[in-house]
Amino acid sequence: MLSRLRRYRTLQTLRHHGLPDHLWRKLRKNLYLLRTLGNREAVELRKLTTLLLHEKAIHGVRGLEMTLEMRAVIASQACLMILELDFGSFKGWKELIVYPGAFKVKRTVTDEYGIAHEQASALSGESWQDGPLILSWDDVERDSYKRHPGSHVIIHEFAHKLDALNGRVNGMPPLHPAMPIEKWSETLGAAYEHLQQQLLRGGQSINPYAATSPAEFFAVLSEYFFTAPAILKRYCDEVYKQLAAYYRQDPLSRTAP
Ligand SMILES: [Zn+2]
Repeated sequence: MLSRLRRYRTLQTLRHHGLPDHLWRKLRKNLYLLRTLGNREAVELRKLTTLLLHEKAIHGVRGLEMTLEMRAVIASQACLMILELDFGSFKGWKELIVYPGAFKVKRTVTDEYGIAHEQASALSGESWQDGPLILSWDDVERDSYKRHPGSHVIIHEFAHKLDALNGRVNGMPPLHPAMPIEKWSETLGAAYEHLQQQLLRGGQSINPYAATSPAEFFAVLSEYFFTAPAILKRYCDEVYKQLAAYYRQDPLSRTAP
């Protein structure tokens, strides 16, 4: 009964709040991640985008006015990540806040001697567990219209939301039944350690921010997976395979724009 009700509500949302054709065409033309999708994928993505726009409150702060197009730019690229997952993957939170540019946050961090320090840093995005997701519009624009390999603030922050689904943001989202947890842990654990070693040696690597924690590792790898799959595959084929199994997508197989 519940699932029938949910299906009915979904159909009503799609029927009454569908994205206008001209806007969808514009997104597919301008957002490089959407250009290479096949027809089936594009139809599905449009549905998911509509549902996400309906379900989440996306609003600007500090005078930033969020038009439908701006909201759809965010929603469509976020939904690309769950194209082959369940829409419920983005459950458990309601609000997406968008700053015009990088935003400053003050945090208290405790050092190895137990002394607390106040730190201020400028962020391009942030994801609160069970809370809002925060983005900087400057960074969204920079990453959406032109490919910056390995950099995509929307994918990064939404990856944290997927990671948080099993209660902890630890670099492992809930895996599908056919995916052994040990295989994921071994593969990503080894790659994480390898990255730490590479950075110590001062060698070439992927974005060093990935070495901050296993959670950031998963978020940064997801950025590479969607924006620069060839680089990730070359960097570590086994990691690419694990992400392909989790997202149930193979971005490398999509033809180049
Ligand atoms: Zn992060």
